[in-house]
Amino acid sequence: MNELDFWAHHKVVRHGRWVCWTWTGAKRNEYGGVRVNGRETYAHRYAYSLRFGPITEGLLVCHHCDNPICIRPSHLFVGTDKENMIDSAEKGRLSFAKKPLRIPTAKALAIRNAPGSYADIAREHGVSIRSVGRIKRTLYADTLVKRMLSARDARRITRLGE
Ligand SMILES: [Zn+2]
Repeated sequence: MNELDFWAHHKVVRHGRWVCWTWTGAKRNEYGGVRVNGRETYAHRYAYSLRFGPITEGLLVCHHCDNPICIRPSHLFVGTDKENMIDSAEKGRLSFAKKPLRIPTAKALAIRNAPGSYADIAREHGVSIRSVGRIKRTLYADTLVKRMLSARDARRITRLGE
């Protein structure tokens, strides 16, 4: 399958707050499957490599949108198996539209405003890289943070002068 054929095999579908590119080709487990140069691989891994270049050996390509069949490059990121497991446990495989982040609001705001790479921020704050992505990258991040803000947290943050 060439690159153009590959990208043609999707349809745009809403998944919670995300607008995903659902793979319409063959399935492999709960993921998309594709044959590239005679080798079977996952569609989302191939999508990532097409857009961002080769995937470092041993790293997983994970979904910000938690939608295994999605191949939209902006929804994909690389992480270690451990990070992916922590993140899956946090999310319980649910769309985050249905499941709020289990990160204190003040911490979420600090992550939102932190400079540097997702990996550095994740390490600094003791959260998964995907959680950093969820806080920083979603179009609805500001709304999300506002919703998470309880009145008590809002007062506390004001008092701290943040
Ligand atoms: Zn997606």
